[in-house]
Amino acid sequence: MSSNCPYRQSTGPAPRIQLNRFDMLNLESQRLVRGWFERAYAAKDNEDECFEAFIFGWIAVNGWAACVTGKDGETEYIKALQRSDDLAAKFKKLLDHSPAFRVSATEFHTFWPIFKAQKIRRGGHHAPADGSRAAIVEHYLACRLTDYEPKCWQSHRDAGEPVPLDWPHTLAAIYRVRCNLFHGEKSAHSEMDRVIVRSAYLTLIGFFRGANIL
Ligand SMILES: [Zn+2]
Repeated sequence: MSSNCPYRQSTGPAPRIQLNRFDMLNLESQRLVRGWFERAYAAKDNEDECFEAFIFGWIAVNGWAACVTGKDGETEYIKALQRSDDLAAKFKKLLDHSPAFRVSATEFHTFWPIFKAQKIRRGGHHAPADGSRAAIVEHYLACRLTDYEPKCWQSHRDAGEPVPLDWPHTLAAIYRVRCNLFHGEKSAHSEMDRVIVRSAYLTLIGFFRGANIL
């Protein structure tokens, strides 16, 4: 059986994202975005600062993404970014050639799927604190929690294959972490564990710096 992965099915030609559009943005706006990114990047060796650092990194990516996609709505530009062949190729190249990036992205991948934190809190579905990630995931699944990213995670599992560690799946999982974090869920339970956020953060900044985008 093959998975029903939305990122594998072609839905017509991908919209061409002009990555160089950011370089044509007015200098003050570029400076702001790069400043936020630097602030995020500067915390990469500080394990205690990952929540704030992730948020600064996301704010930078948000500004960059609105510029290169021409879309202001977050869900809209995420979709456009996920369909970009350019970004997918950059992601793969970095994965193949940067051992440090591969370590970050591979570690983040071991935490998938990333569940929606609000659903866990509201439902009181807290997982045992001492469980492995695999045990925690099984606990949430047994609680019938289905709001997670990447959305096609179960479909890949049913097909007996790993979820691809590629650009669209990774962005989906990072965006789930971003939503959990921005909704103030950071201390509620294991889904916002420092290790998950740190791993998402290192993958996010590692990609945008390693691919020479920000
Ligand atoms: Zn998939």
